[in-house]
Amino acid sequence: MATSRFTAMVQSKCPKCRVGKVFEGPVYGFKKQKMHEHCPHCGLKFEVEPGYFYAAMYVSYAFSVGEVVTLGLTTAMLTKSESPWVYVSVLFAAILIFAPFNLRYSRLVLLHYLSPKIVYNPAYQERLDKEID
Ligand SMILES: [Zn+2]
Repeated sequence: MATSRFTAMVQSKCPKCRVGKVFEGPVYGFKKQKMHEHCPHCGLKFEVEPGYFYAAMYVSYAFSVGEVVTLGLTTAMLTKSESPWVYVSVLFAAILIFAPFNLRYSRLVLLHYLSPKIVYNPAYQERLDKEID
């Protein structure tokens, strides 16, 4: 059965075959996040051209702004504090906690939604489904 683009992105699957994993291991852990150079299933080179993932910085920036604004407003509503140190500590902690998530999902959003050259090919998944049957 075909995997939706969103599901494939959330599960950090390759944008071309939606079967192979883009990253090794989980988002959070003690090991550094490692990205496969090529898709282990279809062989797609993830870094389409040199420096391709610099564009993911824009996506990561959008994620960070969303997280910081949301948490800043939530902190203001819950604590009603006027001390800047409350906000600095909450937001600094949030930036550190969200950093691995932002790294992974900014690249995945770039690969799945902002890369017109990478097109989903359902044949890779259908071939896999036939092998399983
Ligand atoms: Zn693939």
